[in-house]
Amino acid sequence: MPDHSPSPNHHPATRIIHNRRHRDQQGSPYSPVYNTTTYRFDTTAEQLAVVKGENDGNLYTRWGTNPTIKELEQGLAQLESAQAGLAFASGMAAISATLFAHGRNGIVCAGDLYGGTQELLMNHFEPLGIPFTFLLNQQLDELEQHLTKPGMLVYCETPANPTMAILDIADLARRAHAKGALLAVDNTFASPINQRPLELGADLVMHSATKYLAGHSDLTAGAFMSSAELAKPVAAWRKSLGQILAPEMAALLSRSLRTLHVRVRQHNENAMAVAIAMEKHPKVSRVLYPGLPDFPGHQLARQQMHGFGGMLSIDVIGGGKAAETVEDHLQVFLLATSLGGVESLVSQPIATSHYRLTPEDRAQRGISDGLLRLSVGLEDAGDLIADLEQALDSLGE
Ligand SMILES: *Cc1c(COP(=O)(O)O)cnc(C)c1O
Repeated sequence: MPDHSPSPNHHPATRIIHNRRHRDQQGSPYSPVYNTTTYRFDTTAEQLAVVKGENDGNLYTRWGTNPTIKELEQGLAQLESAQAGLAFASGMAAISATLFAHGRNGIVCAGDLYGGTQELLMNHFEPLGIPFTFLLNQQLDELEQHLTKPGMLVYCETPANPTMAILDIADLARRAHAKGALLAVDNTFASPINQRPLELGADLVMHSATKYLAGHSDLTAGAFMSSAELAKPVAAWRKSLGQILAPEMAALLSRSLRTLHVRVRQHNENAMAVAIAMEKHPKVSRVLYPGLPDFPGHQLARQQMHGFGGMLSIDVIGGGKAAETVEDHLQVFLLATSLGGVESLVSQPIATSHYRLTPEDRAQRGISDGLLRLSVGLEDAGDLIADLEQALDSLGE
């Protein structure tokens, strides 16, 4: 009898569509949603075996032992070629549990980080006495000087927000390992379809599943992937901090994962078309997209990525005011933060994610006033390009 269960020989697209832990008794191709917080046992001895960890049964949903959540985690692990996946209530939940579990000996952040991660470190880790350093891209040759003892954590994002700067994951992993450190990568911008850091030597991967993994701007969730060993302390932090996501959200996220492959392929294609069109526009001085041959990180992106992603930034000639005018004239792109959904979004980093940085800090990071960050969605690429062109044309001669 064919069981149609995922095979390691299959492509991730095939595996994720057939991801299930058990054949459904009713014949449904998908598993039921277990909206359950607790689980009954026939005997005290059976319950004790699960409490002791001798038996891998379900006990209490906050611990992560819920069939719907476990099925999602099996899929998450497969997507990143990991032994273990953990589901979280948000991206920040996954990131904070990871940093608590593996960052307590010190964290060295390489390149630009998501604002929420910086806030976590500066506002909460600093008072706790957990040491951390931020290195700009141009300071990365100093990495080894900051890895002063074994057991530290190197942490990065690539492509980075909003410049799409590309970091060499394999190189950072080698250098971290040579100093007895682990490498953690926030892989939200790329998605596991375009980039799989564990295959390149990284040890820990996190996602804001709110973005591409969920893909429809309708749910908040997070993910962590690693070896089984390195996942254990992260799961322990999740349990103690109570960061599990609801089973209903897990089921919704599992549904989204079944189309991740096709969605990301189309995001890649649309973003490339938009990038090429924007390069030709007289009101755009720079297009930051890893897929463009003259983008500084293009060669590296070709080596370590399978696709260039749906995120890009354009620099509007005329600076902050001009960028604002363009943003306010867009009819298809929605003016909103976040990314990775089916709908295209635009945001001006100096008015949103990078509002609090000083002009010097922004300059060091290559964030100009005229920069607009685009999350290219799944609308028709021609409509998106026409929308950007009419908004740019509104600037006049
Ligand atoms: C959105 C985002 C996060 C935070 O995720 P939430 O789901 O909002 O908690 C972390 N990292 C990156 C790169 C993000 O874009």
